[in-house]
Amino acid sequence: MSKSHITGSLGSVKVELLQKGPKCYCDLRAKSTIAFTDENFGRRFWGCVKFKDGGHCNYFAWRDPKMCSYGRRVIRQLRAMHAQSLGEQSAWESN
Ligand SMILES: [Zn+2]
Repeated sequence: MSKSHITGSLGSVKVELLQKGPKCYCDLRAKSTIAFTDENFGRRFWGCVKFKDGGHCNYFAWRDPKMCSYGRRVIRQLRAMHAQSLGEQSAWESN
């Protein structure tokens, strides 16, 4: 595995077509949310709009293409730099 493979360039046509959002299992427009996990930091996904109410349907679909390992590394570094400049990590938790 010496070849480096860069896939998932941002903003593919298919992703653009989904801008309005797919429908979740409740037949409602899914809401775009940003993931803040280490693995998918800053990656957007579609989720049920009723998620906060508890009566949601567990609908889940990624909006952004999977990020390559290099992208993830860069984001992690930016995130660390940003957290440092803020002097606290808690700012990321308020969404
Ligand atoms: Zn739903």
